[in-house]
Amino acid sequence: MQEEKLLFYKKLGIKLTPQRLAILEYLENNREHPSAEDIYNALKDKFPSMSFSTVYNTLEVLTKKGLVKELGIDSYKRRYDPEVHPHHHFLCKKCGKILDIKSKYEISIPLELKDYQIVDFQIVFYGLCPKCK
Ligand SMILES: [Zn+2]
Ligand SMILES: [Zn+2]
Repeated sequence: MQEEKLLFYKKLGIKLTPQRLAILEYLENNREHPSAEDIYNALKDKFPSMSFSTVYNTLEVLTKKGLVKELGIDSYKRRYDPEVHPHHHFLCKKCGKILDIKSKYEISIPLELKDYQIVDFQIVFYGLCPKCK
């Protein structure tokens, strides 16, 4: 990982252990929207001493610092997205694949929310991916 990046995490007050670095590296540019289990399974061979709670705690820290977004759209497990800029998703109901949708959608704010401040919204398409169709 580049020096710049390391400094960035340090400035945010994120303690960098080798395991945490591995988790950060795994998430970087990862478009699969992995779950904590996925990350754990991908790294446990390289870091046999790493526990599942290390992965989970790291994800919590990263979420709190705004470096990762927690996705609640998969009802089976929480998924994590390192792309924190607003975008939309497609979820395959069969294999659980989550695809980023970068198209812009113009929506009108519903009347019920006229007194609320909206900071974000997300459109989720549910269906079957080409492989599962
Ligand atoms: Zn699928
Ligand atoms: Zn995404």
